[in-house]
Amino acid sequence: MNETATQPTAPLRARAEIDLGALRANVRTLRALAPGAALMAVVKSDAYGHGAVPCARAAVEAGASWLGTATPEEALDLRARAGLPDGVRIMCWLWTPGGPWREAIEADLDVSVSGMWALEEVVAAARAVGLPARVQLKADTGLGRSGCQPGDDWAELVGAALCAESDGLLRITGLWSHLACADEPGHPSIDAQLALFREMVAYAEERGVRAEVRHIANSPATLTRSDSHFDLVRTGIAVYGISPSPEVGSSADFGLRPVMSLKASVALVKQVPGGHGVSYGHHYITPGVTTLGLIPVGYADGIPRHASGTGPVLVGGKWRTVAGRVAMDQFVVDLGGDELEAGAEAVLFGAGDHGEPTAEDWAQAAGTIAYEIVTRIGTRVPRVYVNEGVGEIAEIVPEVVGEVIPGYEGDDVAQGCDVKRSGT
Ligand SMILES: *Cc1c(COP(=O)(O)O)cnc(C)c1O
Repeated sequence: MNETATQPTAPLRARAEIDLGALRANVRTLRALAPGAALMAVVKSDAYGHGAVPCARAAVEAGASWLGTATPEEALDLRARAGLPDGVRIMCWLWTPGGPWREAIEADLDVSVSGMWALEEVVAAARAVGLPARVQLKADTGLGRSGCQPGDDWAELVGAALCAESDGLLRITGLWSHLACADEPGHPSIDAQLALFREMVAYAEERGVRAEVRHIANSPATLTRSDSHFDLVRTGIAVYGISPSPEVGSSADFGLRPVMSLKASVALVKQVPGGHGVSYGHHYITPGVTTLGLIPVGYADGIPRHASGTGPVLVGGKWRTVAGRVAMDQFVVDLGGDELEAGAEAVLFGAGDHGEPTAEDWAQAAGTIAYEIVTRIGTRVPRVYVNEGVGEIAEIVPEVVGEVIPGYEGDDVAQGCDVKRSGT
């Protein structure tokens, strides 16, 4: 985790500036786009490389009532270290057998269950702890990754979960799924997944499930499909101000502002003759007398080696291009004869409104997606937080959306205990 809250005073080899003001504004923008739904800020993988604790706090300040992580360890770490008000819900979904179910129940996490092995483990943990678990049942509506298959598998899982609920061992707090192609608007699988999700939710509700939240939308669906919002939207990349894909639109189209800026100090500027090979393998040869600038970040810092010869950098007011290979710790740009001082600022990417490239430009240069560019920025690069704000989180009134039935005790679901399959 990288919460180096150092001020950007000392000269740093490289730093990732994290604009928490932009993050808060993005959360507000997303909430306005999905006004009927609660917002989960997805802060897995150290908040896509931005730093989980400061980003989680800023997102909550701006109105996120849920936080989402992949692993239970990430979620437990947030509960322990982020100083969040009690009402903030944290959900995690990537479980493997033998996972920290007891700790998750004690930390009041919402845990995802995709199949019977996980339900059995969480129920055993709830018995051991003596507290009910908050369980969200995940349906595979077509992504083909985690989630329970429709049909008999779903019937069995829903029935067993209702049975455990009537025994007081868990609460079914959510019914949820994940989309495969939301970043390709118009892809036929989106409609098909939404239709199957409605069916699987309706089936569970007919059996007696009364979930607080039903949810399927990630960032691209939140931005482009209001019919996918249901009770909660799970936004990751958009919180960090980055568009999920060029097909969805640019971040500016949605009023989102990139949160991370990656900057480095030029380590050396020198003049070289024409015909000079540059970096390992000599894949760049200077076309004539020129100046080279050494940028002291490399693939160990998350600069993709696939951006060799293509990655853009703003140095001395102009876009330069990675000359030759990206090495582990450094790469070179051809400054075209410009005489810059060592220590000049190199901006690899940022919000894009001061002439600098964006993470999306790097994604294009490296043949990947902007998610991967920001998430892989390494731990050797300190995160420097700007626009941190008040630092105190106002008391959170968790919004209850969806159909919560007060006093619901699951008493009409006793049939779930002996009915393994739907009767229909
Ligand atoms: C990562 C993730 C998200 C967030 O996706 P974005 O495209 O970044 O908004 C939502 N839901 C699940 C299950 C995820 O794994």
